[in-house]
Amino acid sequence: MTELIAYGMLALTAIGACAVVVAAGCLALAAIRLLQNLAHRRAARPAPAPAAAAAPGTVAWWPCHTTICGHMQSRHDLTADGRWVCSRCRTTREGA
Ligand SMILES: [Zn+2]
Repeated sequence: MTELIAYGMLALTAIGACAVVVAAGCLALAAIRLLQNLAHRRAARPAPAPAAAAAPGTVAWWPCHTTICGHMQSRHDLTADGRWVCSRCRTTREGA
């Protein structure tokens, strides 16, 4: 009986040691990722290119939040006045 308790304690200690090893690995990985992220942020990011003016006839796929389209992605066509009209329910929206 005493041996059983000793083996149980040994098993618990081994499980705890494994958990400590895994935690140390996670911390090391997190530290590496943090350093990589910091190094990446230091590099100057190029300014995003200005969005080109969309011409009439341009299409875009967006979720349409009407009961007809039910939040599903649908094709939106750009009209001459700069509005987007849903090709399924014909609802217009201002922009992206
Ligand atoms: Zn729609």
